Amino acid sequence: MIPAQFDYLAPTTVEDALAALAEHGDDAKIIAGGQSLLPVLRMRLNAPEVVIDLGKIASLRGVRDDGDAIVIGAMTPHAVVGSDPLVAEHAALITKAVEHLADAQIRHRGTFGGALAHADPAGDLGAPTLALGAEFVIAGLGGSRTVPAAEFFVDLFETAIGEDEILTEVRVPKHTGWGAHYEKFVRVAHQWPIVAVAATVRVDGATIAEARIGLTNMGNTPLRARTVEDALAGQPATDAAVRAAAAHAADGANPPSDLNGAADYRRHLSTVLTRRAVLAAAGG
Ligand SMILES: Cc1cc2nc3c(=O)[nH]c(=O)nc-3n(C[C@H](O)[C@H](O)[C@H](O)COP(=O)(O)OP(=O)(O)OC[C@H]3O[C@@H](n4cnc5c(N)ncnc54)[C@H](O)[C@@H]3O)c2cc1C
Repeated sequence: MIPAQFDYLAPTTVEDALAALAEHGDDAKIIAGGQSLLPVLRMRLNAPEVVIDLGKIASLRGVRDDGDAIVIGAMTPHAVVGSDPLVAEHAALITKAVEHLADAQIRHRGTFGGALAHADPAGDLGAPTLALGAEFVIAGLGGSRTVPAAEFFVDLFETAIGEDEILTEVRVPKHTGWGAHYEKFVRVAHQWPIVAVAATVRVDGATIAEARIGLTNMGNTPLRARTVEDALAGQPATDAAVRAAAAHAADGANPPSDLNGAADYRRHLSTVLTRRAVLAAAGG
């Protein structure tokens, strides 16, 4: 199908984009890589009168070192994030997740911020950013505010970004030296996961000193598997110890039932994938 007619704006600064959003209100929609929005427009599930393209705003692109954090611009394409050496060194969990995100074409068009703003519960970037304790910088006409990942994901396809605001960058605290693994279970290659587990661990000798684990598609938003994290701390990185901790992966989760799997199946999957992810992260 062909989208309904809309006006197209391509501002070159965040301020101009915010002004356009304020002027057009509910009639406007932001477009980043368009990989999720364009299908929606083509199916006419949404018909904005104005589309505001962030693609010409250079300040929203790139990865930079900011002391104890790395900062990823919202308009940085997945492919750039996935091959960035700073991300690989300090937030390897994100590198691992991007490796499994969609196909090469979508990774070149889709953006880090667009995927997070879209907040698909099956999206691959929510769990790693949550596990790493990322902070989301959201700009409005009155200035910028910073929202922790735990408050950014509000519900299905809903985030803390207001209608008149733009996600500008994501600050990821450095986890240098931590092992990381993203274990994604799919029915069809290059697609969203039925369940996925993002695990990053700090190993001291043969012991797991700290673990951070995020779950994808185990509820309306990405989740932290805190019971597993607590159970792993101080344990040896052995199959038996990790298996016992991973048995708690679904504690507190409320996974969906759909054509890809019932809720109980997802609960079981989450324990298996958590064990695999933690062992791989600890071995890396
Ligand atoms: C066939 C296919 C397979 C895919 N497989 C996967 C997968 O396996 N895993 C996965 O995680 N994703 C997958 N995706 C989605 C992909 O990651 C998209 O890139 C992503 O969801 C949207 O990013 P985008 O930059 O294209 O955003 P857009 O589609 O342009 O925008 C998405 C939404 O976010 C809003 N938005 C975008 N940027 C901002 C911003 N800076 N501030 C405020 N609001 C903003 C837009 O208004 C829109 O509502 C797939 C997509 C397709 C088409």
